[in-house]
Amino acid sequence: MRRNNGKSSFGALLLTGLVVAGAIFVYTSAMFERDVPVIEVKTNGYWNLKNPLEISIEDLSGVKSYSVSLKSPSDNISLSNEQFIVPKESVKLSIKPPRSAYAMKEKSVTIRVESLDASHWNFLKGNAVAKEYKLIIDKRRPKLNIVSNSYKISKGGSALVIFKAEDENLDLMYIESNKKKFKVQPFYKEGYYISLLAWPVTQNSFKATIIAKDAAGNIAKSYIPLYLKQKNYRVSNIKLSDKFLKGKIADLAEEFVETQGIESSLEQFKIINEDVRAKNEILIHEITSKISDEMVSDFKMNKMYPLKNAQVVASFGDHRKYSYAGEYISESYHLGLDLASNAMAKIKPQNGGEVVYADYNGIYGNMPVIHHGLGLYTLYGHCSSLKVNAGEEFNAKNVVANTGKSGYAMGDHLHFGVLVQGIEVRPQEWMDKDWVKLNITNVIKSAKKIIDRN
Ligand SMILES: [Zn+2]
Repeated sequence: MRRNNGKSSFGALLLTGLVVAGAIFVYTSAMFERDVPVIEVKTNGYWNLKNPLEISIEDLSGVKSYSVSLKSPSDNISLSNEQFIVPKESVKLSIKPPRSAYAMKEKSVTIRVESLDASHWNFLKGNAVAKEYKLIIDKRRPKLNIVSNSYKISKGGSALVIFKAEDENLDLMYIESNKKKFKVQPFYKEGYYISLLAWPVTQNSFKATIIAKDAAGNIAKSYIPLYLKQKNYRVSNIKLSDKFLKGKIADLAEEFVETQGIESSLEQFKIINEDVRAKNEILIHEITSKISDEMVSDFKMNKMYPLKNAQVVASFGDHRKYSYAGEYISESYHLGLDLASNAMAKIKPQNGGEVVYADYNGIYGNMPVIHHGLGLYTLYGHCSSLKVNAGEEFNAKNVVANTGKSGYAMGDHLHFGVLVQGIEVRPQEWMDKDWVKLNITNVIKSAKKIIDRN
């Protein structure tokens, strides 16, 4: 009996062991997992009944079946359902709106997604889930209307546009031009927007389109009718002299990290004209790309006239090609206007704003930058001394700096740059009283008249 007893207790132990092992297997095996399928519907709560609904369903033991239906007060439509003989680890669905969608009058619908997994849990029935999403229906595109704009834009130049945008669920708005997205700023009264535009001097064509998108994904586009004026910019072939290479370039090469350990002065020049310039311009484009999203009610600009009785010593848009002993070395675009008068002359911008930068910037030397509003910036390069600090408000009557030859400059002069949302534009336009009146002041005036009538 003792032996039998021992045998049966061994059997009981074995049985208990098997049950425990079985239980552990059931608890840890994917076959018996207890998690319901994970459903995700890509939505922000709006639907235009045009774009497909992107739905994903995932499950550890596999998705055995799913169904998607649309419920509204008047209808219950099955959109999609499927049963899998071989369960799927993940199911990606792109559900098209029902055929009757175009006639649907409901302001909102409910999307119900149900799914069952292939787990043996729950007495082999698996884990089931049902999720509902309430979506606001918005089938209408935003309404866009141009109120007023500059009549023309010239290559390398600026223009202004003011427009109206209406939509209950307006989400995103910008002006697309070539590869650039211009930001827009609220203007004067609710629903109106303003933006300066720029045609980069390095691009041969220009086209600008206002894009408005609502939360449901409806998109409206409005082409801005600007008369395009081509303008030829000079290509200058510049021969590098030994005097220049051994003088200014050697001095600059000592200063920059990029030229440390480089012996050849031609190599030094190439690095300064390309790598250092690119780095300095990235900084300039970064600080001049910002624009406020607060409503502006006006934008008044005096003609820009930074240097009294100055001579133009280099023009905007020059495409400079450098060679040495008949061999091409490097090239660059001159994206400002070089003005010279007396050494260390006072620079007076004539327009107020906010100083956004006042520091050394490589080849640009000591360089203050002022934001005048609407993403319009002025930049003053090669200064000897700076009279402002970053973050300060700048008064139109003040001196911003004195001219000099800091950075990549041969003689004492001012490199005067004007930028619209990070794009260099032709300063001469903003220095011309008639141009400013015709293209900026009058456009704003006529827009306000139209808005006030509405
Ligand atoms: Zn210059």
